[in-house]
Amino acid sequence: MVSLISLPGISFGVVCVIDGIITIPARSKQKSVQCPCCNIMSKRVHSSYTRILRDLPISTHCVSVHLTVRKFFCKNTECEKKIFTEQPGNEIKAYSRMTKRTRDMLQNILLEVSARKGSYIANLISLPISPSTALRMIDSLPIPPTEKVTVLGVDDWAYRKGLTYGTVLVNMETGEVIDLLIGRDGVSLKGWLAKHPEIEIVTRDRASAYSSTVSSMLPNAIQVADKFHLLKNFSDCVYSVIRIEYRNLAISMNEKSLQTEPLHPEIPKENEKVPLNAKGERNEYIKYRFEKVKAMLKDGAGLKTVARSLQISRNAVRRYAKVDVLPIKSIYHKYDYNEYLEIISIGFSEGKSFPKIYARMKEAGFKGSHSAFYCQFKDHPMRTTPTVYKAINIKLRLLSPRKISRYLAFKDLSKIKDETDRELMEKLLSKSSTLKKIREQVLTFKELLLGNNVTLLKEWMDRTLSIGISQLQSFVRGLMGDIEAVKNAVETNWSNGQVEGQVNRLKSIKRQMYGRASFELLRRKVILSKVG
Ligand SMILES: [Zn+2]
Repeated sequence: MVSLISLPGISFGVVCVIDGIITIPARSKQKSVQCPCCNIMSKRVHSSYTRILRDLPISTHCVSVHLTVRKFFCKNTECEKKIFTEQPGNEIKAYSRMTKRTRDMLQNILLEVSARKGSYIANLISLPISPSTALRMIDSLPIPPTEKVTVLGVDDWAYRKGLTYGTVLVNMETGEVIDLLIGRDGVSLKGWLAKHPEIEIVTRDRASAYSSTVSSMLPNAIQVADKFHLLKNFSDCVYSVIRIEYRNLAISMNEKSLQTEPLHPEIPKENEKVPLNAKGERNEYIKYRFEKVKAMLKDGAGLKTVARSLQISRNAVRRYAKVDVLPIKSIYHKYDYNEYLEIISIGFSEGKSFPKIYARMKEAGFKGSHSAFYCQFKDHPMRTTPTVYKAINIKLRLLSPRKISRYLAFKDLSKIKDETDRELMEKLLSKSSTLKKIREQVLTFKELLLGNNVTLLKEWMDRTLSIGISQLQSFVRGLMGDIEAVKNAVETNWSNGQVEGQVNRLKSIKRQMYGRASFELLRRKVILSKVG
């Protein structure tokens, strides 16, 4: 068995088991030892003592190596050191309480899990350590010096969301994290870049702190706005546009399904009319308020003043300021019948009365009144001709803004798996020319970033501006402010996708430690961990 244990330079004595612990006496094989001070060999032993070292377990038993360490006289009379201690092989480090291979194994485990879990696993495999020892072992791991970096990816990440942020640096050629820095204001990045003048290309988000730091430290480096962020920012922008336009889209869809649906010509048109007030006619007060806001703004009053004197929110004033006519309110906000269509249609087809159907809807969470429900559905084809209605089975379900903005990026709508979603999306696009235009821009933006024809960029920006939606316009203005880096994004193939992956990895490592990790610990783990 001793031959299996083997450690270079160490000879083992007879194994014995004391209290379930396998105890192995050991000593260095070397006969003569070099003085660390004058390098002269010595054979004269002064004294010896025993070091107890933990080694890798055997079966389920802890292994304890009792190593005899000798002290030698230096025979060089001119040497400062009269007595020195031998260094018994590479596997045993001075002052360590475990063999190197044991430490390596524990550290490899601890890099991948939290200290508490690491301690638990270590105990399971007969290498008991406490969580605090586990932490110390990670802290003592050296971080290898950074090699030369040619292409650097920079991004920010939240250390404490909303409070403190960090910067992650990725070697874009290897995809590995090089370092984590505190803060995202570019100050720590500045210090780091000073040590890396060899960097030729930097990919980054459009955050200006990074761009100005890179410009000042590496004036010759090419800066590339990250494609991933560009796409994401644009899709966020499109999402916000759709959220604002949503009411109008919803109304147009509903009108179409109820009134002009060519699929069921059997149903007389009068029967499908929705009462005006339910369709979004605003009451007089809101109309008055809108006109008042408009008038006050025209007279030069500030948002705040208007909001205060009319007792309405500043957001409402801002919203009104942007439009010329009071937008039609969607009926969905008040009574979203879409959610209850199944109950309603089944109820009518079974010949149930209004109060009975209403009671069921109430149970399912419907908030509207019975009279509103009655008004809405008394002449509805679902009631008047339930069998015909059922046969046609029109779906009034609407897509969420999130879904719409996601589907806008589908080049081929037939790729939308959900059939109803696909039909709705096609309808929406046929109904709204603005949406159609936005879709065109989403698709061409993607193409633009995937291709490398920079001349198309200008065209794209002009066309996006011409749609005349303020959010899209400010997005384009943002691009113009960073135009060189955006052009580089089109022309080069570097993308921060890898950095983004590393940020996600970082988040998962942070979660693993229940968000309590110190910055240094997190840094070590992110740089050194192999699978986390
Ligand atoms: Zn010496």
